[in-house]
Amino acid sequence: MAMRLFSPMSRLAPVAFALPSIPIAITVPPLLADLWESVLRAVPKKKTSHMKKRHRQMAGKALKDVQSLNKCPGCGQIKRAHLLCPHCVREIKDSWKTAQTA
Ligand SMILES: [Zn+2]
Repeated sequence: MAMRLFSPMSRLAPVAFALPSIPIAITVPPLLADLWESVLRAVPKKKTSHMKKRHRQMAGKALKDVQSLNKCPGCGQIKRAHLLCPHCVREIKDSWKTAQTA
């Protein structure tokens, strides 16, 4: 186990802040020195997982419903606008397969 080393200089050393215009020096009492150090070194305990990060960033960005739907002029089924009708494409592929085998 690692022991913390305290020198008499670091116990009473003033902590300086560099604000935009006013430099402030705060003398931290020795009782708070240990706490002060831990406050300054506050870091996340664990790495945020890929899933957690993606969930946080994708909150409120779910997939939207498809609004652009048309009726296929060939078969009459509902299809997405500007795209080939999957039903008709499957029919054409099947007819090609049967033509090749025959
Ligand atoms: Zn169709």
